[in-house]
Parts: sequence; structure tokens; C-alpha cells
Amino acid sequence: MTTGQVDGALATAPAAAAARRRITVRGVVQGVGFRPFVHTLATELGLTGHVTNTGDGVVAEVEGDPAALARFGERIGAEAPPLAVVESVDGADIALARDAGFRILPSRADGPSRTLVSPDAATCAACLAELTDPADRRHRHPFLTCTHCGPRFTIVTAVPYDRALTTMARFPMCARCAREYADPADRRFHAQPIACHDCGPRLRLLTADPDDRTRPPRPATGPDPVADARRLLADGAIVAVKGLGGYHLVCDAADDTAVTTLRRRKSRGDKPFALMARQLADVEHLVRPGDEERALLTGPVRPIVLLRRAPHPAPPPGAPALSDAVAPGSPDLGVMLPYTPLHHLLLGLPGDPPGPRLLVMTSGNLAGEPIVTDDDEAVARLARLADAWLTHDRPIHLPCDDSVVRISDGEPLFVRRSRGYAPLPVPLPVAVRPALAAGGDLKNVLCVAEGRRAWLSAHIGDMDDLATQLAFEKAEAHLETVTGVRPQLLAADRHPGYRSGRWAEGHTAGRALVRVQHHHAHIAAAMAEHGLGDRRPVIGVAFDGTGYGDDHAVWGGEILLADYDGYRRFGQLAYVPLPGGDTTVRRPYRMALSHLRAAGLDWAADLPPVAACPPEERPLLARQLERHLNCVPTSSMGRLFDAVSSLAGICHHAGYEAQAAVALEAAALGAGEDHGPGYTFALHDAPTGQGGADTVADPAPVFTAIVEDLRAGTAPALIAARFHTAVAHLVRRCCVLARQRAGLTTVALTGGVFANTLLAEATARLLREDGFTVLRHRRVPPNDGGLALGQVVVAARTVPVFGGVGVP
Ligand SMILES: [Zn+2]
Ligand SMILES: [Zn+2]
Repeated sequence: MTTGQVDGALATAPAAAAARRRITVRGVVQGVGFRPFVHTLATELGLTGHVTNTGDGVVAEVEGDPAALARFGERIGAEAPPLAVVESVDGADIALARDAGFRILPSRADGPSRTLVSPDAATCAACLAELTDPADRRHRHPFLTCTHCGPRFTIVTAVPYDRALTTMARFPMCARCAREYADPADRRFHAQPIACHDCGPRLRLLTADPDDRTRPPRPATGPDPVADARRLLADGAIVAVKGLGGYHLVCDAADDTAVTTLRRRKSRGDKPFALMARQLADVEHLVRPGDEERALLTGPVRPIVLLRRAPHPAPPPGAPALSDAVAPGSPDLGVMLPYTPLHHLLLGLPGDPPGPRLLVMTSGNLAGEPIVTDDDEAVARLARLADAWLTHDRPIHLPCDDSVVRISDGEPLFVRRSRGYAPLPVPLPVAVRPALAAGGDLKNVLCVAEGRRAWLSAHIGDMDDLATQLAFEKAEAHLETVTGVRPQLLAADRHPGYRSGRWAEGHTAGRALVRVQHHHAHIAAAMAEHGLGDRRPVIGVAFDGTGYGDDHAVWGGEILLADYDGYRRFGQLAYVPLPGGDTTVRRPYRMALSHLRAAGLDWAADLPPVAACPPEERPLLARQLERHLNCVPTSSMGRLFDAVSSLAGICHHAGYEAQAAVALEAAALGAGEDHGPGYTFALHDAPTGQGGADTVADPAPVFTAIVEDLRAGTAPALIAARFHTAVAHLVRRCCVLARQRAGLTTVALTGGVFANTLLAEATARLLREDGFTVLRHRRVPPNDGGLALGQVVVAARTVPVFGGVGVP
């Protein structure tokens, strides 16, 4: 370097003595156009050498003028391509090699893989322009993609990321595609999934025999499968469409009959469907997206964005209609915009014959099963669901459902973190040894971690289904492959009946298995994603439906004073009997009756849940509660929301998870600003020696007040709003007590109940006004989809704990 400076000062001197450096770039740097970018940069700076993908990252050897080398080192991180995520740039001086020019070398599969695979990305603007340009050779090509967009995670079979190790391996490039692939000046230079009409995958449309669905579907004979599929959709058919991470079931969102049929065939109950709109303007009469939501909807990920419905959705002239059956009773609509060329074609390009402008897009599966990715399976498993299949011959290696995100307090709040986010790592504030966390049994997501990074899988599903368990195994193996993590330790929930836990037990292969308490894992996940280090305890408020408690009760309304090492149960909802588990989860009126009884209130015939309970069921339930037959004590906040939803007369039967709570939130949102007096939980110190929390929150006074409100003719919406306020104030009061007694000032809000943004925002506001620091989830979901992150941090930190003895 000294020589370079001296020479640089002499304007007429020959170029400085050349030097050579090896630069290693780590992060998401494969499959995002990094090598072409390096090629362009090196060439521009007059450097020779080469660049290659290795298991360790992109490695460039560059040789030339030392000042140019220094600029290269700065610009390689700062000017990286749009889909790249650069984590580190390291350089070392090496011996000169005197290359003739700058070359891109084939990838090397050496050493431990630490190169991060990019998530799938939505079609970029440049590709979209080609799709719609009749003069372009890829006009209307359903698989058009470039360096800056297209499938990645779902087609990668191994690393390093190269076409041969993707599901595009079976499509040899034609001469023209190969030229673009080899041309450093081209947008498709070394873009692995590129194809064209000549060499790419082919679409096919299959139609079911309407008279006999057991017969194999027949290929349609029309020249344009997309045009045929659009016609079928316009005629009210349900079409299974092969997407990036699996099949969707699709129908016209304006067509009541089609939507209702899809709901019935899918055994969907009233669970809302997501929509795909051709353009944002087509939903602006239905929802009111703000700037953050617009950015999410139109960005490179394009998740399903949950948006509050507009108050008066009367469609203006020319706006597409929406069937009431799409999201009955939901305060939100889940909306996404097209993210593959096929979606754009399906919704119609400018000038196409008119077709549906809003499509219902729901995962191609039966309720509870994983999304279908295999073509034969799609025909077999979706035979009773779909009238036709719009499919193609590019395999999907890994299932990946759509992500579901909303904006809350200006930050993203994940309901499901999957397509477009997996497998981007979540940075950890503490180092962990190589570990695998199995997650929970609902909304399963698993996680591997090493050092200061954790990789969460795509959404896998509910583990009570055999197909989901197989999907779990496949996702686990794939995640180890693409991350190179070789777990030395396993983590799972403490619930003895969880399939995820049993899977971990059966796969220890001599490795330690650490069981992590459910709500502790939720709180640790919130701490980790906010970068809290060791010895930074928090007041963890974990509210959800179900988690296995240390006393074998069903926990779910918990306030734990926690750090990564452990927790103390500071507060809990008072136990009430949960009669008959799943039956009561599906029938919230039973939970209301249990709470009424616990509060010493009669089951008077005028109360909505009493009226909703069949007369023959009532005495049986009374006896069950009295004698504690098949009853488990529960402190579940989710079940309390169910009970109040039923008591207010809003929802007595839950057709899908949390339906009663969602309906209660929707009602509260309709209550306006002035709610009058709120309700108040009783808070008392628990008798010692009970094995429970220090402080118990008793909802009995809340139930008494609601019964009074009902008898005074108070509207259900007001009751719902007052209840939300009561829970928010309860959290504040408990946190103030915890601050007085334990000196803690940071509060983590976690658990599926905090997907209720009305509650979460009100609670956070009260806490902040009281001087607390509030941690809400913004990288992983507050529900069980974020559990694995907490499990891995609790189980696998490398710091010595408990006086120097590491976690087993
Ligand atoms: Zn593109
Ligand atoms: Zn081609």
C-alpha cells in the first residue's frame, strides 16, 4: 500500500506495482447476480482475476492497481445487487497470478456451506415489461425471470446455487438463452432459472370429468392453457394453479357460487380466503392501504397483506365486485398482488379479453394438510376440490406457502413467515452452538441455528397430520442442506404429546434434547429478535390458546419474569376448568359456561351462551365441571377471549382456530371511540404453596359486569371493546407490580393473542405511557410460528450458565 501511495503521487509514473487480493463475501450472495456484478465491477476498475461461488460465499481474486483494489473492496458491499444481503466482506493479500482478464469460474462445492440461498422473489419490473411487450422474445412467457427475480429457495436442491442443482436442471438452455446467460452485459448473466418459449417449462391445462371425478383429468386441447383457464374461472370453475411454492386453489372472487363451493369442498368453515388482485387500484374500494402496506404489496416479496376493510365498501363504477363469502365476519381482507409471470397472465395483461380481476387464492390442500407441490399428488389429492389444473413441468422442490403480514404501529407483524422470507436468517444477539429446534405442533416452523444466525423454515402446518409430518422431515433435511448447519443439539416443546417433540426424541442420534417451556420460548423469541443479550431479563407477557405448563395445566395467560436461562411465573389468569379439550375449543359457549360457573354466576336462560348450549348438553357439562371429569385447569387467555365472545353473543361455534376471538376483535373495532366505563379484573396475591404464580388475575368481576351490561341492553360491540380495554389495563397493572417487585422495565408482548392488533396496540400504548420499553414481534410471528426461534436460543447458547455448567 505504501508503494501505491508513493507511485500515485507521481502523475507521470507507470501504474503502481500490481497487487492481488482474495475477497470473500458472505450473506445472501448466490442466485442474486452477484458474480456478474463482481465481473462488471472488476472490469470497470481495470482489474483481472476471477470470481466463483463456494460453500463459504462468493470468493473473488482481483489483481491490479492497489487503489483500484481498495475501491473494489468498498464497492463490492455497498453496490451489491437488489436481492443480495451482504453480511460480511473479508479480504487478504495473496500472491500475483497475472491472469489475462477477468473470468467467472464454475461454482465449487467445497467446505462447509455458509452461503445463504435467496428467498423467492416477485417478477421484477424489467421482466414484467418484457412479458407485456409483443416485440420481446419472451412476450407472455410464463416462466420469465432474471437475475433480480424469480424462484430460488423452492427450486434449490443443493448448494452451491447453480442450475444443475435446481429443478431447472432438466431444461437445457437454447442457444439464445445460453448466450444471454454467458454475456456479462446481460440482465440474465448467470441467472440460473432463465428460460424462454423455446427451452423452458411448458404449461398444461387438465380438466376433470364433471360426471366422474374418480377418472383421471384430461388435457385440454386449446393452444393457450392460460386463456382456457381464465375462461373456466370466468365460468365459475375452481382451478388448481401451480405456483412458486405449491398449488393454489383459485376461483373468481366475485362469484358467490364459486367461492361457496370452494369453501364447502375445502371444509373451510368461515375462515377468510386471501385475494389476488390484478392491481392495487382494483381493491382500493375495499381496503385502505397506507404507505407501508403499499410497499409490502408491491415490493419484491409480495406477501398476503392483511388490511382493514374500508367502512363502506360500495364499489364505485367499474370496480370489481367481491363476494361476501370471501371473508365473512372478518374485519380484514388478505390481499396480494401477482408475483409470478403466470399470475400476471392469469389476471390478464392489457388488451386481453376480460376475465376475473379479483381471484380467491388459497393453498391447494385440505384443511390441516400441507400445501401440495407434486403434480401427481395435485391431481390425486385435489380431485374433489378442483375442476381443472393449470400446471407445468418445472418441479417444486420445497413447499412454501404464501407469507401473511400486517402492519401494526408502523412495523410488520407476521402471521406467517414463509415465501419471500424463508430462508433469510434472523440475526441472533447471542452465539449458539449448531442446533435444531422442532417448534410447536400448530403452525409448525422449525429452525436451525449456529453462531449468531438462525434460519427458520417455511410454514409447515399442523403436525396432527401424517402428510405434515413428512413435510416437516423434508423441510428439516433441506434446511440443513442449504444452511450447512449440522446440529449438535435439539430443542423441542415440553409438551409430552407434541409430535414435534416426539420427532425430536426419535432423532437425537446421541445428541442432547432440551425441552423448553412453551411460553418461555415465545418470550425468548421476542427477546432474541430485538437483540437482547444475556442477563437482560424482561417481563414476558405470553398470551395464547394453549401451552403445556410446568404443573401440567394448560397455560396461556402468563406473565413470566424471564431471561434466556429461565423464568419465574409472576402472574397468571386464574385457573378455570377446560372441559373436554378440543370440543370446548370448537364450542366457545362451553368455555363461557365454565367461566360463568367459576365466577359464581348462574346459567340463566337469558344469557347467550346458555341459550347456545343444547338443553341436553347443559346438565352433562354442569356435572362434568362439578366433578372435574375430563377437565384440565387452564389459565388460557385465548379461551377467555372465546368465552367472552360467546357471552357477548358474538360467536358460539369456532369453525377455525381463534374464530371467536377474531369475531370479538371485529366487533370491538366497530364500537367507535367512546366505550364508557371498562371492566376490571381482580388481582390478588396467590396463596403460597399452590405451585402457581405470585399474582393471579381473576376475571370473575369482568363476567359479572358483562352480565350486567347484557341485561342493560348494551351492544355486543361495546362489550367487546370494554373487554379489550380491560385486558390491556390488566397487563399494565401486572407490569407495574412486576416493576415494583423485581425492578424490570422491559416488557415483551408475545403469543398468538397478540396477533390481535387492537389489543396489542392498546396494551403497548398504555405500557409506553407508563414508561416501559415494549418489545413486539416484527421478524417472526407472535404465534407458534415463532416458537422455534425462542427454543433454539434458550437451548443452545454457548455461554456457560449456572456457575459455568453449560446447558446439557
Ligand atoms: Zn426479472
Ligand atoms: Zn431459451
